[in-house]
Amino acid sequence: MLSDSKFGFGLMRLPKDAENNIDIDQVKAMVDGFMASGFNYFDTAYVYNGSEEAMKAALVDRYPRESYTIANKIHKMALKTKEQVAEVFNESLRRCGVDYFDFYLIHAINRKLYGEYQEFGCFEYCQEQKEAGKIRYLGFSFHDDADLLDQVLTEHPEIDFVQLQLNYLDWDSGVIQARNNYEVARRHNKPIVVMEPIKGGNLAVLPDHIEKIFKDYNPDASMASWALRYVGSLEGVMTILSGMSTPGQMADNLATMKDFQPINSQEASLIAKITKEYLALKTIDCTACRYCVAGCPKNILIPDLFAAYNDQMAYGKTSRPKTFYLEHTGEGHGLASECIACGKCEHVCPQHLPIIDLLKKVAATFE
Ligand code: SF4
Ligand code: SF4
Repeated sequence: MLSDSKFGFGLMRLPKDAENNIDIDQVKAMVDGFMASGFNYFDTAYVYNGSEEAMKAALVDRYPRESYTIANKIHKMALKTKEQVAEVFNESLRRCGVDYFDFYLIHAINRKLYGEYQEFGCFEYCQEQKEAGKIRYLGFSFHDDADLLDQVLTEHPEIDFVQLQLNYLDWDSGVIQARNNYEVARRHNKPIVVMEPIKGGNLAVLPDHIEKIFKDYNPDASMASWALRYVGSLEGVMTILSGMSTPGQMADNLATMKDFQPINSQEASLIAKITKEYLALKTIDCTACRYCVAGCPKNILIPDLFAAYNDQMAYGKTSRPKTFYLEHTGEGHGLASECIACGKCEHVCPQHLPIIDLLKKVAATFE
């Protein structure tokens, strides 16, 4: 394997202070706990606002360079011209305070972005940086179907690893295609980095009647531990990323990953049962990546409105989801019904959600 760290600290959802800035002291404590547990893979990206700088302060400035590995990514969102590919790469090195990346990824490839990354020469540029010693291993993160994954890996044999969205809920999803993509990566013999193993936190807090099924089997196991163990039991998985926001989440995940126990066949059947029950709730599969928010002309806080809807579907009609919905509309933020169907959000959604139609359901539920 290219990394000996089975667990990776995803730096996309870092803890915030009262002023909504990244809480560097908290991040430092989490980095220390993570390193002390024997893990060393840190995953940031140019488009994770403030993440690279926070990682520099909490990790790079405090630990020897050879004691940790950094994965960084270039996203088309940050590129308006071909020349900016080099500018963004060098800016990332500067923000992180390093002179090379252990892992570098072309970010969130889908059919549309694949063409644009090729047009901008991203693969060639990254390969040149690898030859120059500024990238050790080159990969990409992926959000599309298995046919495209097969095509990209066939056209780019220089790719060292792939990052896929794998979790038990999406395993047989026709949209995310977790199983199909996993099988393609295995066929191409590429080590796999898993993203969204807990589905943006959705699998860490399950509706009561679903959680009870897990608790009846093992009262001590957290919901997140089931999700991590599921993907960690798959062959070919190099590193599992978790975008942790609190020391509590980190402590729970570290407890699972330090003394890793693969899923047995009885547990696999239990997870299959849970998946069926959960999917029957018909919630919205938003991972709260927030890629859709910046471009919305009506400034609709799409993931927050979806979270309110999911909460209501999962837990029933309590006052909580409606209050949450109201807190995330108004004062410049549009209602779900104010969507003008421009489609900008759907173009960037890595989960391929039909956001316009879903917002109509949200509006019908809360307005
Ligand atoms: S389709 Fe609606 S929600 Fe999406 S960006 Fe346009 S106005 Fe915003
Ligand atoms: S709707 Fe899509 S792009 Fe927006 S936060 Fe959810 S998953 Fe991300």
